[in-house]
Amino acid sequence: MTGTPTHCPYCALQCGMTLDGGAPAGGMSATSASAGGAPVRVAPRDDVPANRGGLCQKGWTAAELLSVPDRLTTPLMRRTRDAPLEPCTWDEALDRIVSGIGRLAAEHGPDAVAVFGGGGLTNEKAYQLGKFARVALRTSQIDYNGRFCMSSAAAASGRAFGMDRGLPGPVTDLAASGAVLLAGGNPAETMPPFMRHLADMRDGGGALIVVDPRRTATARQADLHLQPAAGTDIALANGLLHLALAEGLADEEYIAARTSGFDAVRTVANAYWPDRVERITGVPLPKMREAVRLLAGADRAHVLTARGSEQHARGTDMVSGFINLALALGLPGRPGSGYGCLTGQGNGQGGREHGQKADQLPGYRKIDDPAARAHVAAVWGVDPDALPGPGRSAYELLSALGTPDGPKAMLLFGSNPVVSAPRAASVEERLGALDLLVVADFVPSETARLADVVLPTAQWAEESGTMTNLEGRVLRRRRAVSAPDGVRTDLEIIAALAGRLGAPGEWSTDPERVFGELRRASAGGVADYSGITYERIEAEGGVFWPCPSEDHPGTPRPYLDRFPTPDGRARFVAVEHHGAAEDVDAEYPLYLTTGRVLAQYQSGAQTRRVRALADAAPGPFVELHPDLAERLGVEDGQDVKVESRRGTATAAARVTDAIRRDTVFMPFHWAGEGRANLLTGTALDPVSRMPEFKVCAVRISA
Ligand code: SF4
Repeated sequence: MTGTPTHCPYCALQCGMTLDGGAPAGGMSATSASAGGAPVRVAPRDDVPANRGGLCQKGWTAAELLSVPDRLTTPLMRRTRDAPLEPCTWDEALDRIVSGIGRLAAEHGPDAVAVFGGGGLTNEKAYQLGKFARVALRTSQIDYNGRFCMSSAAAASGRAFGMDRGLPGPVTDLAASGAVLLAGGNPAETMPPFMRHLADMRDGGGALIVVDPRRTATARQADLHLQPAAGTDIALANGLLHLALAEGLADEEYIAARTSGFDAVRTVANAYWPDRVERITGVPLPKMREAVRLLAGADRAHVLTARGSEQHARGTDMVSGFINLALALGLPGRPGSGYGCLTGQGNGQGGREHGQKADQLPGYRKIDDPAARAHVAAVWGVDPDALPGPGRSAYELLSALGTPDGPKAMLLFGSNPVVSAPRAASVEERLGALDLLVVADFVPSETARLADVVLPTAQWAEESGTMTNLEGRVLRRRRAVSAPDGVRTDLEIIAALAGRLGAPGEWSTDPERVFGELRRASAGGVADYSGITYERIEAEGGVFWPCPSEDHPGTPRPYLDRFPTPDGRARFVAVEHHGAAEDVDAEYPLYLTTGRVLAQYQSGAQTRRVRALADAAPGPFVELHPDLAERLGVEDGQDVKVESRRGTATAAARVTDAIRRDTVFMPFHWAGEGRANLLTGTALDPVSRMPEFKVCAVRISA
């Protein structure tokens, strides 16, 4: 292997790659120019189990991010409220931020200043950002875009297992599985190298069962596709459990020995008769029966969920429905089996463990737990009573901006909510009206363009740190190229602001030193990193948390002996079908569901700037069934208007029988009038506070 070994800048699979400045070799590499003009070559690593020599189109073209034409290399500032953004010095930018924060906090209290983070930030940045909010700003108002991603799976896993950690074991365990039920995930487009593990499973005789309202690229590779109506997963999961019980397929011995709360779930499941479930979901009984028999008949099996089953106003209950099924079949804690979540963002797993969530402190500790506060405050060298309490969740925070009781300023790192938040036009308006909006990014995203101050940052290959992938494996991201003159790392920005604010404690700009503090802060917590060092990650190719000491091997497969709940048992949670928060009616007769495409990533701020990806996926579209298109008089490729109660979007029609007749689909990666999140609703899950991205009612016109 030549070059610097590191990982892809995008999704949670964190495929291994090397970056170097050499010439392409044998056509098996992709090159681009770094910001300094030297060519940078990407090659996949075959020593990383997640991708084993594979990359998707996004990974192959990742080096082009280093030379995007509109790369930010100087701070920008508006001299007056309505003035355009203009270049300024770092001192001018930082002074403006600190004076604005000081004025607003003095007038309105520390909660007048909010912080918004991202699931793509390294562990070190996520940790430092949470500390910065609580110690330097003393604000409770911090949350991050991961709330929009997998927070329902996190909440459901926490209440079932006492812990939330992506997959139940190394991703390579999937190859030996006899059956995988994947609900609401489309890895064939979102993380294609993951499909190799499922292909290995199928080559070994295992079966892939996909639950999705669309016949996605993943569903086309499945042995069985259950195509429920959008928002009906709880009914489907309860119906599958009903059939498992009716056919005597539940693992009663496991249920008695390792779980609690099953009686209430059995009672609920008994009421989900097959004909009732067929009526609610539209999934035929034979398909449901086949799914249950495949799962129950396998020695090893997995139940996995992703955004399609999580981004709902009842997303936590939806995931609990699938966890109940997995528990009834005795999967969690059985070697090579279990329940898992396909986390989406690059550091979606680590990003939720170190304190950038409104309700958490590092180590996945609850912020209202006195013992947790005392431990973390001691590491930070502050009085625990000085730490703020829980703040608002992401959408609640964004929708409170500028209200009488809400924040007047926001510092935003690694996120683009103008595109990715629900009811995006309203979020855009609130962000634009703030007294002070500060955005740290390496490109002028749609959110950065609204800011009063823009801080240009280093990006993935220009800095070091750690990422925790969807397996719960902590990985090294290594600096491979120099950052352009004029930019700073997020850690340098946080340290500079903390220094100007007179914050107590250490604010290192060295990622390894920050990781050392993170280890101490996480010690004894659920997500215990205290035994993980940069040297170990290097030597062992990554370390799985929890890892409570340097002589601990890490925990690739948690739950084998006990669950980290007070009594060591996993907990069933009875859940009932409620339907979507906004149902269809005569005025808005179609369900809209939103999602992703292969060549774009999240809000598109990065991937829309990569030529090959922009060529492959140039703009927004609306998928609709041919029968619906005919009824509406819509031709394939024609621009159509999609309206919900919150707004209107325009995009090209893509006519396909891969979608149900009652449902249309839009990817959410684009800005402008094709922005899918102009349409989405703001109903929030009562547990996870996840917005309902996956269902709302719309109408379409030509
Ligand atoms: Fe990058 Fe994810 Fe593609 Fe792998 S699957 S190359 S991590 S975007």
